[in-house]
Amino acid sequence: MAKANTINPVRGTQDIFGEEQERFAHVVSTFDRVRRLYGFQGVQMPVIEPTAVFARSLGETTDVVSKEMYSFDDRGGDSITLRPEFTAGIARAFISNGWQQHVPLKLAAHGPLFRYERPQKGRYRQFHQIDAEIIGAAEPQADVELLAMADQLLHELGIADGVTLQLNTLGDGDSREAWRAALIDHFEAHRGALSEDSQERLQKNPLRILDSKDPRDRPIANSAPDIDAFLTDEAKAFFDAVCAGLDAAGVAWTRNSRLVRGLDYYRHTAFEFVTDRLGAQGTVLAGGRYDGLIENLGGPSTPAVGWAAGIERLAMLLDGVVAASIDAAIVPMGDAAEARAAALAAELRRAGLAVELGYKGNMKKRMQRANAAGARYAIIIGDDELARGEAALKNLADGEQRDVKLDALAEALSQ
Ligand code: ATP
Ligand code: MG
Repeated sequence: MAKANTINPVRGTQDIFGEEQERFAHVVSTFDRVRRLYGFQGVQMPVIEPTAVFARSLGETTDVVSKEMYSFDDRGGDSITLRPEFTAGIARAFISNGWQQHVPLKLAAHGPLFRYERPQKGRYRQFHQIDAEIIGAAEPQADVELLAMADQLLHELGIADGVTLQLNTLGDGDSREAWRAALIDHFEAHRGALSEDSQERLQKNPLRILDSKDPRDRPIANSAPDIDAFLTDEAKAFFDAVCAGLDAAGVAWTRNSRLVRGLDYYRHTAFEFVTDRLGAQGTVLAGGRYDGLIENLGGPSTPAVGWAAGIERLAMLLDGVVAASIDAAIVPMGDAAEARAAALAAELRRAGLAVELGYKGNMKKRMQRANAAGARYAIIIGDDELARGEAALKNLADGEQRDVKLDALAEALSQ
């Protein structure tokens, strides 16, 4: 419990430590490995952006813009927002830096995001995402490649079982407009039975009613027309190519015709990887195609597709990630040994071995700490050993102990 006069953390932030940190780091390093296999370059993005970057791209009626952004005027009077997502900032960077000369561009990013939400398990005000974007590719093969990478990532994390790829299309501009009109007709006919939020969304953003979680909206959303009847030939051909490409790549998926993404900029492919292992926070990875976004922000017309996944949610699904164990703990006994131990630790570390050097304590204490740290070996040096230029090397797994020359330790530990 925090004491009365201590400073509390900001609500919805986390101090990630110990095993939780190991899981978190494992997600990031696995992503970093897999994104290289698919030729995605890393990119570092600012945490702060002009508020307009998000207000203009996400759409004024979305929850993120209307309720969740951390925005403030800086000391110069400019409106700044802590990024609530990566995509809009990456689109801004694409325009600012003239990255169209590099298309097709495959980018990968990770880091903290900020949304003013009601904190609960799997939902924080500062959370973290890994993010992947393919910019400047209009072909359905880009969608397939991006989804295959997500699928491989989940497999390599060992969490693919119980996570399902749900796929939908939102069509092109014409399909979406025709579908939108049909949805407005359908929802108008049931207006009185809809939740207040959905009545408000009805004219501005009727697609959002489809994924409403309000039980009053569910039956009306479920009986709404799906997009299939409104798809143009081009939009249908595009979706068919994505589905066929996923099948060919061995990526399992299911159709969810109610799936729409919260943000306004999506076209064609929309998808979520969903699990029932995280309660209400079941979406672990989500994204889609956003062909209109870069042009909306004042850049050249540029097709693009991307996804983001919550690192905390992925980390919660991992089982049994254990801290990388250290190779050896050095246990010196006596002043001379203590002095030699520091130099020995430096030598072994330069040889690439993970070594722990207790700062104080008797032999028993130090051996306890070596075991607690998960060390494979203890290197015990007393005055006698030191005089012979040796140390006692004890295997902490089986208790076996033998004397080894100090200059042969690195080799003995590497075996
Ligand atoms: P949700 O429906 O759960 O609010 P969303 O549609 O707002 O999700 P996206 O903007 O698509 O989420 O973000 C992609 C992923 O980032 C989500 O699938 C989730 O894993 C993660 N995420 C989003 N918001 C949070 C949050 N507040 N805390 C932790 N993770 C989050
Ligand atoms: Mg949300």
